[in-house]
Order: sequence, then C-alpha cells, then structure tokens
Amino acid sequence: MIAKEIRQAFLDFFAEKGHTIVPSAPIVVKNDPTLMFTNAGMNQFKDIFLGEAPAKAPRVADTQRCLRVSGKHNDLEEVGIDTYHHTMFEMLGNWSFGDYFKKEAIDWSWELLTKVYGLDKDRLYVTYFEGDSKEGLEKDTETLNLWKQYVADDHILPGNKKDNFWEMGETGPCGPCSEIHFDSRPDNERAEVDGATLVNADHDQVIEIWNNVFMQFNRVKDGSLHPLPAKHVDTGMGFERLVRVLQGKSSNYDTDVFQGMIQFIAEKSGKKYNSAAKPGDADWNDAVAMRVMADHIRAISFAIADGQLPASNKAGYVIRRILRRAVRYSYQTLGFKEPFFNELVPLLAEQFKGVFDELYSQKDFVQKVIKEEEVAFLRTLSVGIRRFENYFIEDGGVSVADYSGELNDFISDRWDYSVDRSNNKVAGAFAFELSDTYGFPIDLTELMAREKGFSVNIEDYNTALQEQKTRSRAATAIDTGDWIQLKDDDSVEFTGYDETETVAHIIKYRKVTAKGKKQYQLVLDKTPFYAESGGQVGDTGELVFPDGDIVHITDTKKENGLIVHFTDTLPKNPEDALTAIVDAERRGSIEGNHSATHLLHAAMKQVLGTHVNQKGSLVNGEYLRFDFSHFSKVTDEEIAQIEIIVNQKVRENIPLKEERSVEYNIAITSGVTALFGEKYGDYVRVITFDDDFSKELCGGTHVKATGQIGFFKIIAESAVAAGVRRIEAITGIAAQNYINDQNKLVHQLKELLKNPKDIAKSVESLLDENTRLKKEIEKSVLEKASGLKTELAAKAENINGINFIAQRVALPNADAVKSLAYQIKDIVDNLYLVLATEIDGKPGLTVMVSENLVKEKGLNAGNIIRDLAKEIQGGGGGQPFFATAGGKDASGLDRALEKARTVIGG
Ligand code: ATP
Ligand code: MG
Repeated sequence: MIAKEIRQAFLDFFAEKGHTIVPSAPIVVKNDPTLMFTNAGMNQFKDIFLGEAPAKAPRVADTQRCLRVSGKHNDLEEVGIDTYHHTMFEMLGNWSFGDYFKKEAIDWSWELLTKVYGLDKDRLYVTYFEGDSKEGLEKDTETLNLWKQYVADDHILPGNKKDNFWEMGETGPCGPCSEIHFDSRPDNERAEVDGATLVNADHDQVIEIWNNVFMQFNRVKDGSLHPLPAKHVDTGMGFERLVRVLQGKSSNYDTDVFQGMIQFIAEKSGKKYNSAAKPGDADWNDAVAMRVMADHIRAISFAIADGQLPASNKAGYVIRRILRRAVRYSYQTLGFKEPFFNELVPLLAEQFKGVFDELYSQKDFVQKVIKEEEVAFLRTLSVGIRRFENYFIEDGGVSVADYSGELNDFISDRWDYSVDRSNNKVAGAFAFELSDTYGFPIDLTELMAREKGFSVNIEDYNTALQEQKTRSRAATAIDTGDWIQLKDDDSVEFTGYDETETVAHIIKYRKVTAKGKKQYQLVLDKTPFYAESGGQVGDTGELVFPDGDIVHITDTKKENGLIVHFTDTLPKNPEDALTAIVDAERRGSIEGNHSATHLLHAAMKQVLGTHVNQKGSLVNGEYLRFDFSHFSKVTDEEIAQIEIIVNQKVRENIPLKEERSVEYNIAITSGVTALFGEKYGDYVRVITFDDDFSKELCGGTHVKATGQIGFFKIIAESAVAAGVRRIEAITGIAAQNYINDQNKLVHQLKELLKNPKDIAKSVESLLDENTRLKKEIEKSVLEKASGLKTELAAKAENINGINFIAQRVALPNADAVKSLAYQIKDIVDNLYLVLATEIDGKPGLTVMVSENLVKEKGLNAGNIIRDLAKEIQGGGGGQPFFATAGGKDASGLDRALEKARTVIGG
C-alpha cells in the first residue's frame, strides 16, 4: 500500500464504524494560552473534553497535522538523528465523546492493524496501566482483560504512570492509556533478544505506533482526581510510523512519504543518501542533514500556510529556529551556499494535494517567505563566521560590549568571555552568543574551533543555555488557580451581536497570577463582551451589581470555548445578578474599523488582484491594521484607488447582512472569503456588505450599515515580511481628526508662504532660490578665501627657518577653512600655520604643517592641536600635517594662537 491508500484505509475503516470524518485543524493554535501549535489530534476537541462545548458528533476520526517542537512535547533535537520522530507529522485518530469506551477502542484498533492492514501479530506488543499507589490509582485490569482476548500474555506489558497515564496538562481531563508497539527487527535479532524487553526503551526498531487514551478523570489544582461524568476515548497513531511498518522499512524516511524529497535533495547536493549510515560513518552527517531538511520543510511550510510567519519572538521564533536548523545543515553539511531549502516547497505542496490543500493553494507565497528567510540567515551565518574569526585576534577583535543580546545582562561580571589561550579554549559565553545571535549550533562552533586547534568550554556553554531557559520560563510562568464554580450550568451565551448590555450571572471565576500581577478571570452565563479573536480586540466595560458594586472589565479573551472576562477586583457578592455593560463608544469605533477592514479587503482584491489574502489583522478602537500577501509595494495611485472604492461603499450606506448559521459548504460555494489557518465549524457566520462586493466568514462585530464608518483613510503602507505588505488605516472620528490636522498644516504653510495660489509651486521656487543662493555664497566664500590666502601668506614670520602664520579668520564653514589652509600650503614653503575660527559661535582651530617639517623637525599637527585645543576647552586630532579641533570657550582662541608660537620656540 502506498501512503495515500494507508491514510484512506484508516478513515474508511472508522467511517464504517459510525465515525464522522472531520478536517484537520490548523497547525497554529488560536484561543488557547497554553499551546502554540497543535501537538496532538485531540487539541481541537479540548473544549469538548473540558465540558465547555458540546460534541458535534459522538464519534469522529481524522488525520491531524501536528507539530512537536515546543513546550511539553518537543522532539526537535531527535529529528533527523533518529528515524521516527518528526517535527510535523500526521496523527491519525478516532474519538468517542461519551459514547463507546475501552472495549470498542481496543477491538477496533486490533481489527484495523491485523485484519485491514495485515500486520504480523507476533511483532505487536500492547501495554496497559499498572496502577500507582501514591496517586491511589488502580491497575487498569479492564484493558488488560480486553487485550487478553487477542494478544499472547508475553506481548501484554504493564506500564507506569509516565508511559501509561495520559494528562492534558497540569490540570484537566486525564486517564490511563494503552499503547501499541511494533517490532520490526530481523528474525535473527528477534530470536536473540525478546522484543518485550525493548518496548519503551528508545530502540529505533521497536517503536510505538498507536496510543489509545481512556479519559475518565479530571485533575484539579490541588492534584486530586475526580471521575469525569462522561468518559471519552482519544487515540493517536503516527501516520509516518504506520506507513513505515506497513511498507516493511526500518526508517520512516525510506517510505514514499519522504523518499521523493530525500532523493531530490541527494541529487541536487550531488551526494548519496545512505539510510543505513551509523554515527561515525563518513556519510552519517549527510544522511542526518538530508533527513532534517526533508522533515523540517514540512513543519515550516505548514506553519506558514496556516498563518504563522517566521518572526523574532513567540511562535514565529520557533518556526524561524527550525528553519535555521535546516538551512544550517543544508549550508554546512551538504554545501548549499546559495538558498536551496525553499525549492522543496513545490514538491511538498504536490505531495499534500488533496490531503491538506492549504499548502498547494499558497505554495508560491510559502516558498517566497522561506527563500527570504534563507537569504537573511545565510547572511547572518557569514557575519557570525567573521565574528568568530575576529574572536581570535589578540587584543580586541571582539568584546562583550558589542554584543547586544540578552547575554550581556548576565555574563559580564561572572563569565569569562575572552579566549583562554593557556588551555586553547573558546569561552562558553562566546559560544552561547554565537548560538543565540547567529544561530550557530554548538557543534558548528566546536568544529570551527577545532580547525584552529581549540575546543569550547562546554560546561559554561551549557550553564548559559540552562540559565536562559530558566529565565524565559520564569518570564512566562503563569499561576492559574482552580475555577470556583458558582453555578452548575456551564453553557455560555454571547449576546454581543445584538446588545451591549445584558443581565447575567457569574458561572465561575478564578485567580491568575502572571509576572507578580494578580488578576481574576470571570465567566458569565450570558455576556455582551466580545472576546478577542479574528484580529478584533476584546471588549472593555463594567459589571454593575445591585448593591452598587462595580467591577471593571479590562479585557475579554477566549480560552477554547469559554469567554473569559479579565478584572483586577472581585465583586463583593459574586453570586448576585449583574448587568454586564460594554464600553459602547469604544465598541462603536472598533466596529467601524472592522467593517472597514472587510471593505478594504474586497477593494484590494479589485485593485491589486485576487492573490491578495489576509495574513494578519488587528482591529481596535484607534485604527485597523491589515497584513496581506502581495509581492510589490502598493503604489500611491493604487492606494488612492482603494480609498475611492471603500469610501464609495461607505457613502452607499450598505446595510449589514448578517447570517449567523450558514452551512460551511454552502457558504464556500457561494464565494465567501475564508481565511487560511482559521478553524471553521460546520456552521459559520457570514458577513455581507453588498452581495456583489464583500462576503466574509467572520465572528466579529460590525456596523449596522456602512455609513456608520463615516470616512476611511489609509495612513501607512509598508513591508512586513517577504511577500507580505501591511496597510494601516483609520475611520470615523479618527479619520476626521487626521484630515483636520493635515488641513491645519496646509494652512500654516500657506500663511508662512504668504498665501500663494499654488503651495507646491511656491515651495518649489523657494527651494530653487535657496539652491541658487547657496551657490552664490559658496562662490563668494571662495573668492574671499583666495583674497585671504595672499593676505595671510604675506604675514608669514620666519622663526628658526619655519614660516609661521597664526591668525584669526572669519569664514562661514569648516570646508572653507580647510580649503584656505591647503591653498596657503601650496604657496608657502616650510609652513606652520594655525588658524582660529568662530563658526556659528563655536571656537575652532586648524593646524597645517608642511610635510618636510613633519619629517625633518618632528612637527606633528595632530599633537600640536591636542595641546592648543586645551585653551578653548576642546579636543581634536588628525594627521601629522593637518589637524582640526573644536571647543567650548571662544575666549581662549587668542591664547591658543600665542601658545602656537611657543611650539617652535618663538
Ligand atoms: P514517543 O514516545 O515515540 O515519542 P509519544 O509517547 O510521545 O511517542 P503520543 O504522545 O502518545 O506519543 O502520540 C501518539 C502517536 O503519535 C505515537 O504513538 C506515535 O506514533 C506518534 N508520534 C508521537 N510523536 C511523534 C513524532 N515526533 N513524530 C512522528 N510521530 C510521532
Ligand atoms: Mg514523544
């Protein structure tokens, strides 16, 4: 079976068992503060498990694109070194939400693996939870007995809490799990060592393929476990691993999932891929590099397609680091000195066509973004290599002072930064800088050091790394308390599409401490407060209680299915009915900006082309910011055209058409604009302003008719990343104020220019006149200088064979003084000239010495000026024959001229 058929067989099997097949959620997670990327199939169902949203179907199955490169699951360092951990992989999964439980899950997984896929039963091992007395958890005998029907006793293994008890996080749903492992070693090896001893022992030929989790508890903050009212099944099977065992390979990279990519890289690099290479073999590094590239391109491409661009912080930084890891291997090991990594995108897009079409439809964009990053990183690498070379220059090639990264905060006083020449060691702090700033992995630094006969102080390097991790963990640590439940019913209704005031109750609240700041989060049964999403900021406002108590809501955010209100204080009587009141004025401005964003998006598609897709959006009370894919600068004419269209639509006062529940497929075929990287349900909300103009899937709040936007004005256009541009615009009062300010400026200009008919012309002629006057001044200064030249030359005084001239001159700028000095040098031999000037009130000195005096008499203009400059409280320098100085005290100029004479004993 080829990979495509294997995936399809899984989905078909569970469809047949009554499962609804759902699409993969995007790999980039929104609305979950605890997670950056989807790392398991169950993520998109989290709110169902938490009881915050109803299940749409009791049984579902899918293939979910996952990323394990940060947080609790981080396999990045293994990837490429081993042959079965990837950054991005597909997790095949089947779920039961309060429907079937252990029996069916186990029966079906066995049926699928052995009957449909025909895996050799003798190579399969299964595990069950052995219990944990400390937690008061019993052994999972139910699972054990279910397996006994199918599997020989010596292939059923007990597992401890670490391997066989699954938890979503520190709190939340959890339960025992049962893993299925596959032994793909050759028979002779199997005869020698019992496979059972290699399960969960990091053996690369005895690997876990499937995990069945049985969620039956909820863990609360104090650590205790409570039974869940409804029990769930959550399973995850690594697709690439499954393909590998079905295709009889000993590495995931030898399957048709990866071979196309591997062979392409091998061919372009002119090297061969040796799957069997072992660490230490000559071709080991090449094999690792090819695997890393073939793997990482997947993670990066899908992250970008789902809306996460590489960036310098947060999720964007995680993506940038993965990209750099791949480019480093491509550059350092495979010898691609020019950007090459991005060329893998078309191949990958083709491969995932029909599976995850998000990539194919954006492949040019994705490739462009990657290429730009690659170019930038290759540049950084070469800068880093130069810095590394400078590091070895004795006395100051490199110092801590020019390092601007966070290292500075903590190395200077405790860490040795310089080369340790007695032990031939590169300081650990310097190696850390190279990795932190230039993305040099430690083995690259070690390699480069080795070529110079040095090693790296690895202990210090590791300590620096560890400290960085600890600090960043501390910076983001959030202490979240348990929910205090006030009402049993957990269902939440959003009323904010229709009103900004709603009578409601607090369902639950909790205390959250982040960075030492204490806050409370409240959940209401009904709320008009819009929670930040889709770029629209969360509402602010207040909760008014019958006893007069007022609680200010500072922000509203979504957490999975919940609308969470943020406040600094708790009400005195939290169980009372309250009136939730949104700050309506602010909401009004936000709505104007949000609706304007839709009009803008549609207008841009008309003016710039249909390739314009939203890549990011921010809508708040002050302005709107819209990032979109487009490959060149938006010209002034295009901006003007876009503004004309949008304002035309504003004046038409088009009423809002809001459809709250349209079947997703119907909406899509009717031509609405949907966004990449957005997770849509079966039913969606469609916002239309004129059926023929703007139709978008959107959860935000909007004006009742476009006239409320008032006026739309673009105030900035810029580049955000390769292929992504940004427009910033304002509406309503903000736009009116902006125009008024501009108008005021024009009035001021007019007045200054004495009310000309045409301001631009008038400024132009002012500028022309200015240039003409400048030229004239220059000319007259030159004339004056050449007059001065003869005047001064005549004043030369012969002191010990030196023609000494010391004079004050009145010239308008330093250039003129310099030119005068040179001219005098041309006509006076054996010259020692000192000129004193006052230009714009600042005293200055210029010293000129004939070259032969420099050599013969040891006169040095640079030294002389330093001495003379003291008289005017200044400093300066220059060459031995010409030097200048500036100062603060003009009254010292005459003293300086007097002193000049003493230098030559006059
Ligand atoms: P392992 O111990 O091999 O890292 P895991 O215990 O982390 O696996 P689970 O969290 O149970 O794995 O995920 C379910 C399944 O997803 C695993 O059985 C495996 O087949 C697959 N899987 C997990 N991590 C990866 C990865 N980094 N790359 C590819 N497949 C993976
Ligand atoms: Mg793992």
